Amino acid sequence: MRRGPFLENLSKVNIKPEDIDFVMCTHLHADHIGWNTKLENGTWKPTFPNAEYLFAEKEFRFWRDTIEANPLEKFLYGAYDDSILPVISSGQAKIVRNDHDLGSGIFMEPAFGHTPGNIMVNVLSNNFHAKLCGDVLHHPIQLFYPKWYTNFCSDPQKAVNTRLNFLKNCANTNTIVLPAHFQPYHYGKIESDENSYIMNIG
Ligand SMILES: [Zn+2]
Repeated sequence: MRRGPFLENLSKVNIKPEDIDFVMCTHLHADHIGWNTKLENGTWKPTFPNAEYLFAEKEFRFWRDTIEANPLEKFLYGAYDDSILPVISSGQAKIVRNDHDLGSGIFMEPAFGHTPGNIMVNVLSNNFHAKLCGDVLHHPIQLFYPKWYTNFCSDPQKAVNTRLNFLKNCANTNTIVLPAHFQPYHYGKIESDENSYIMNIG
């Protein structure tokens, strides 16, 4: 039921939905799979008609198997039905390895814990490296308290370990991190200070 300016924002940088060739979701929580599809005359249709939707296998199988095994329970607020199934029906879904490499400097990286098959998306271009880290960093407070986790983490200890590794590896490098839920500024570089971190937006 959300309405945001996502497609308008894309068109401001001259990208039309038909131009999109790949769609990747870090994980399949309801707030990360919206815009996979859109509601057209009462039917959910893929938003990006020419895209291949790449799903990391561990994450995809976990939710598919869980939902198929418990047909009477409502998982993901019903978002599997409206944001994943239409993409499977249209033939645009492709299940890939958890470390799938598109071969163009873009590759997935396992980051399990927040969900069973959570991944990050890496983007490499010349000397530039960005990590779309999804909910590995959920809230800025986790820079100061990396061991804090959310009640949405399926395996809290694994989520904490993944975050600690991620922060340690990114700290004091040129890697730009893009957490999914940060308010402006949406991205920055990680700097470390003893046991806590900051995100430098400069
Ligand atoms: Zn989220």
